[in-house]
Amino acid sequence: MPKYDLLVIGGGPAGSSAAYWGAKRGLSVAVLEKKNFPRDKTCGDGLTPRAVLQLEEMGVLTDLEPTSHRHIGLRTRANQQVLELEWPDHPDFPNYGLCVRRREFDQLLLQAAEKQGAKVFMQTEAVEPIFTANKLGLAGAKIKSSIKTDFSEISARSVIVSDGANSRFGRALGAKRERSWPQGMAIRTYYESVNSSDVWLESNIDIRDKNGGALPGYGWVFPLGDGTINVGIGILSTSKNYTDLNTSKLMTQWANAVDDRWNIDSENPCIDPVGGRLPMGGSVSPKAGTNWMLVGDAAGFINPFNGEGIDYALETGRHSANLIVDNLTKNSDPDFRHVYPEWLEKNYGLYFRIGRAFAKIIGKPAIMKNLTGTGMRSKSLMEWALRIMSNMLRPEERGPAELAYNTIATLLKIKDTGVSKKEGRA
Ligand SMILES: Cc1cc2nc3c(=O)[nH]c(=O)nc-3n(C[C@H](O)[C@H](O)[C@H](O)COP(=O)(O)OP(=O)(O)OC[C@H]3O[C@@H](n4cnc5c(N)ncnc54)[C@H](O)[C@@H]3O)c2cc1C
Repeated sequence: MPKYDLLVIGGGPAGSSAAYWGAKRGLSVAVLEKKNFPRDKTCGDGLTPRAVLQLEEMGVLTDLEPTSHRHIGLRTRANQQVLELEWPDHPDFPNYGLCVRRREFDQLLLQAAEKQGAKVFMQTEAVEPIFTANKLGLAGAKIKSSIKTDFSEISARSVIVSDGANSRFGRALGAKRERSWPQGMAIRTYYESVNSSDVWLESNIDIRDKNGGALPGYGWVFPLGDGTINVGIGILSTSKNYTDLNTSKLMTQWANAVDDRWNIDSENPCIDPVGGRLPMGGSVSPKAGTNWMLVGDAAGFINPFNGEGIDYALETGRHSANLIVDNLTKNSDPDFRHVYPEWLEKNYGLYFRIGRAFAKIIGKPAIMKNLTGTGMRSKSLMEWALRIMSNMLRPEERGPAELAYNTIATLLKIKDTGVSKKEGRA
């Protein structure tokens, strides 16, 4: 049975980032990916400046150039009004984002990890955890592979679980989503459009249900610069009639609403629309055992403000790999159960609490309608909103953010300690 310092389960952005940084820092790394790349992944294909910084630090921006399209900010529409908001200035993050199809993006990232020395097993699924004798840690995983291997298990000193939103492997470790916290659902397709080279991401925050009630979410058009655009719509679970919403119908309405502006034939998408779940705000727990950690969507790390998760996948993948490097070299018996949640709390705790509170507020149609109306009347207010929603507050702005959270929490009588019930028990 092969043995590695680090076994990564899932080769999406979170897994590739973990494998890249682990291998770069000298670990022997194996990545299991159940699909064969290149493969499609349901996504809006939008990368914020936060994600671009991670890609820059992985040295993959030049390789991404031929397949990606740069954008300079967000064009927001609502109530017949339009605001163009450039990405905010920030001391760390670049002032542009990218759009790139996940088919190309995920393959390129995994190849970057491979170039650092990670061993990638494609079409190989981790089907069952192998626990250590005391059950607190993992000794490896049982695998099922479509490629020829002479082993059916891989053993490892540490494991990073990056198997995405459904995270069956994470569930087998006892991790669960905190059901009282918001999640999202989104659906997207592609259209041919002569406006595919537009340099703005476009969103419409004035989304209505069939009775005309305002819905918490937004419709998007993300131009890919290759003659096509990614068109989709996402809704938060805090909407009163969330379970009754028909996303396919919302998608059709949304495509019809943008067809003139984007010059598309809304009846003829390039592929059938496909939807997916968005676990948000760090809602899955526990996120760590003695020698394993959950990262990216497997840990519920999608931003409740805007539904983007690639940046958090890249960041949590990187940080968890760093923790393993730092601990495995110093300590043959590491324990991530406290150190990883502590880092997450320090870096995302307040932000995600504000995000969860925001998701609850905008679930009320009247509040959503008011916020949309007020926001669209003030460009400076919306610029501040974009700074918050893209998690690009400058260090000196964190004080006001905390104040905003406390105000929101008081107004809504939210008792969100930032620790899910499950994590509290772990
Ligand atoms: C409709 C929609 C639109 C979105 N739009 C955006 C957007 O524009 N920008 C943005 O930042 N985010 C967006 N997101 C969220 C984004 O897609 C995720 O946050 C991101 O993909 C998370 O990366 P990940 O690596 O954690 O998981 P994934 O990308 O899901 O990767 C998980 C990988 O693990 C593999 N895998 C699963 N189980 C196993 C197993 N047992 N063994 C081996 N391999 C396994 C899968 O095949 C997959 O390749 C969107 C999501 C949806 C649904």
